Order: sequence, then structure tokens, then C-alpha cells
Amino acid sequence: MLPKVIFFMGLPGSGKGTQAEIVVDRYGFFHFDTGKELERKLHDPAEQHDPFIQRERENFDTGKLNTPEWVREVVKEKIREYAGQGKELVFSGSPRTRAEAEALFPVFGEIFGKENLVVFLLEVKEETSLFRNSNRRVCEKCRIPVVWNSTTEKWFFCPRCGGALVRRTLDNPEVIKKRFQEFHERTEPAITYLEEQGAVIVRVPGEDLPEVVAERVRIHLEGV
Ligand SMILES: [Zn+2]
Repeated sequence: MLPKVIFFMGLPGSGKGTQAEIVVDRYGFFHFDTGKELERKLHDPAEQHDPFIQRERENFDTGKLNTPEWVREVVKEKIREYAGQGKELVFSGSPRTRAEAEALFPVFGEIFGKENLVVFLLEVKEETSLFRNSNRRVCEKCRIPVVWNSTTEKWFFCPRCGGALVRRTLDNPEVIKKRFQEFHERTEPAITYLEEQGAVIVRVPGEDLPEVVAERVRIHLEGV
């Protein structure tokens, strides 16, 4: 039987978002992308009058982590909302800190049952992460990321909606290095915590093509 909640964790550019999308297509899970939810909220023109939001936006755009209490509240509220609609969830990049994990794990346990959670840790080298991130662009309109390769480097517009492809502020090399540091100092302790709580942590080599990595994930989930 499939778990009800799947987490993909790993360095920026380890393929968390891509693998989450594959789980969505294959099993009909709902992709809860914390980064996208936060980015959407922080860049919402209607929120810009709020000095707190302005400060959080500054943190977000320069690669620092957002205030954990605020992230937790946004995430909790959304989890309950989606669970209430009977959705199974896949996360890419959440929880980001040990404090966030400590706050959210009981919520997941209560709603879905601890035995229904699985964490995939996608393992890539920092140089791979840096290369992937510094060459990634996103569609200005629909926010779909376009991963760099010899074909996509010639694209200027989104293949899905025709929007302009732009580089995100948080994908410049200095910001990415800051995000590595944040990952080691703050996200790795979150993974340790989940492990201590008895969550299933599956380490998956992530250097290969997305479909190869996806097959490793599928075999774990389906057992064959
Ligand atoms: Zn688009």
C-alpha cells in the first residue's frame, strides 16, 4: 500500500520538485510545494503593504530561511485544508528546519498516521547542485522551471504558456552557496529529527536522469 504523505528532501537542485511532479502524475498526489506557496504569498501585490511580509520577502529572495513560526502556520493551515479534501500529499523541500519538523510531524501523525509517511532523501554532490541551479530558469507566468540542457538553452519562452523565461533571484551562485550552508546547518537536523521519530528515511542516489531516479522511488513505493 502506498504512503499517504511523501517528502522529498535534499540540496537545492537535487530534483525534489521534479520527483514530486512525477509522483503527482503517477499516483494523483497533490504537490504541496512549500517554496512555491511562500513565494506566491510573498510576491503577492496585495500583501506588500505589510512590513513583516516585506522582511520575509527580503529573506526569501536572498536565500535565507523564513521565520519558522510563520512558515509553520502557513503550512499547517494548508495541510489541514488539503487533508480535509481527502488529498494525499507530496512535499518538496519541507520541513526546512528542525523546529519546523518538530511542529509539523505531530500534525502529520495525527492526520495521516506516522506509518503513512515516507521521506526520500535525494543525494547529489554540491557541484551538481550548483550547476543545475545556476542554469535553471522559470516561466514568469506559470512558474514552471526549465532545467538546462542543450535543447532548452535555446529557449526564450515557456513551452507551456509562452511566458518569458527568467532566472530566479535565488538561483545566482552566491545565493545558492548560502542555501547549501542553510541546508547543512538547519535542514539536516530536521532529517535527523524525523529519523529519531521513527519516520522511514530512504536515501536515493540523485545524480542520474530524472526517470532513473523516479524508477528507484517507484520500486521503493511499490515493492517491485
Ligand atoms: Zn509558462
